[in-house]
Amino acid sequence: MSRTFDAVVIGGGIMGCATAFELSRRGVGVAVLEKGALASGSTGRSSAIVRQHYSNETTARMALYALGVFQEFEERVGGGSGFVPSGFVVLVPEADREGLEANVALQKGVGIDTRVLSREELREVLPDAASADLVAAAYEPASGYADPHRTTTSFVDGAKRLGAELFVDHEVTGIRFSGGRVLGVDTVRERFDAPLVVNCAGPWGGRVASLADLSVPVAPCRAQVAVFGRPEGHRGPHPVVLDFVHASYFRPETGDLMLVGLIDPKEGDDVVDPDDYPDHSDATFDLDVGQRWMARCPPMEAASARRGYSGLYAVTPDWHPVIDEVPEGSGHFLCTGFSGHGFKLGPAVGRLAAELVTRESDPLFDAHMFRLSRFAAGDPVRSRYAYSITG
Ligand SMILES: Cc1cc2nc3c(=O)[nH]c(=O)nc-3n(C[C@H](O)[C@H](O)[C@H](O)COP(=O)(O)OP(=O)(O)OC[C@H]3O[C@@H](n4cnc5c(N)ncnc54)[C@H](O)[C@@H]3O)c2cc1C
Repeated sequence: MSRTFDAVVIGGGIMGCATAFELSRRGVGVAVLEKGALASGSTGRSSAIVRQHYSNETTARMALYALGVFQEFEERVGGGSGFVPSGFVVLVPEADREGLEANVALQKGVGIDTRVLSREELREVLPDAASADLVAAAYEPASGYADPHRTTTSFVDGAKRLGAELFVDHEVTGIRFSGGRVLGVDTVRERFDAPLVVNCAGPWGGRVASLADLSVPVAPCRAQVAVFGRPEGHRGPHPVVLDFVHASYFRPETGDLMLVGLIDPKEGDDVVDPDDYPDHSDATFDLDVGQRWMARCPPMEAASARRGYSGLYAVTPDWHPVIDEVPEGSGHFLCTGFSGHGFKLGPAVGRLAAELVTRESDPLFDAHMFRLSRFAAGDPVRSRYAYSITG
C-alpha cells in the first residue's frame, strides 16, 4: 500500500516535529515517520537547557527566537513545553574571559538579555558557588530549561491540528529518487510518495542519509547524565549553570533533583550503536561529575546519588548541524547532527527547515553555515572560544 503526502519528515524528535509544525503552518501536507515512539531518540534524554549563549550570530539569533517561542508556547504552538525560566549562568576560566566578553557583546548586539557579572552579583545569583577559582561569569535572566517530551508532543499535536499525520513504529528503510528528484520513502510498513523528504533522524541521520547514497558525518555518541537529590536547605530555585572551569553543567529537575553532565569534547569519542548502547550512567561518571559539581557548590556534598542515564549526541566534526538540500534541487533535505546542543534551537530549526523546504524567498535565518559541503571544503563552523562544543 502507498500513501501520498506533500512532504515526509523522517524522525519524531524535536527537529522532526518542529519542522512538521512549521511546514503544516505553511499549508504543506506532512507525514512524520518515526521508527519507534515519539521523542525516543536524543530528545527524550535531553537535559533540555534553553540558553542563548552562542558565539555565532546565526545560532545566537536562532536561540533568541527559540526562547521567544518557549516563553509564549501556548499561544504560538499550543499545549505546553514545561519551560522554567530559572535563569542561566556561564562560568569560564580567565583564559576565556575575552571570549566570554566578546560573546556577550555579540549576543547583546542581536538583542539577547545577557550581561557579565561582577563577583558580588554572582554571589547573589548563585549563593552556593565557591568562586575563588572563578574569574568570569555571564548571566541570562530569561533562560532556563524545558520538558523535552512535552515540547515535542506539543509540536506534533500542533502539526496534526493543521492536517499532518504521525506514523510511529514506521522505520524508513529506503529513499526513492528518479531523475535527480526524490519520489518518497519505503518503510517497514507501507510506502510513502512525496516530492519532499526531510531527514530529521538525529543520531541515525548518517545512516538514513546513506539510504539516499549520501555520506553525512554524524556520529552517534553516548552522553551520560548523573542525577542527585539536593540536600535539605538547598532545594530552592536555582539557575542552570554551565561551568567551563570544571567542564560540567548542572540544572535543577523536579523532585528536588539536580541533573549533572559533562561539557567535554571527549564525549564525541564514545561512538556507539544507536540501537544498542548502555543507557545507564556509569558509577565512575557519577562520581566524577559529582565531584566537579561539589567543587563548584560545596554544600552539595550532602547530596544523594540517584540513578543516572545515557542518551545520544549526534556529533558532526564541528559540533554543528547539517541543514541543507542535497543534492540541490532534489527535494531531499538533511536536518541532522545537532551535536548535543540542539534542543533549545528546535523551534528556530523548525522554521529554518520549513523555509528551506518551501523555498521561502526571504527566510528569517540563513542556512548557509549549516551546508553539508563545508566539511569537504575544509571550512567548518568555528567558534570564537576554546569551549566551542556548546556552539
Ligand atoms: C544527555 C543529553 C543532554 C542534552 N542536553 C541538551 C541541552 O541541555 N540543551 C540542548 O539544547 N540540547 C541538549 N541535548 C541535545 C538535544 O537533545 C538534541 O540535539 C536534539 O534532541 C536532537 O533532536 P533530533 O530531533 O535531531 O534527534 P532525535 O531526538 O534523536 O530524533 C530523531 C528521531 O528519528 C528517529 N529515526 C531514526 N531513524 C529512523 C528511521 N530510519 N525511520 C524513522 N525514524 C527514524 C529516531 O527514532 C528518533 O526518534 C542533549 C542531548 C543528550 C543526549
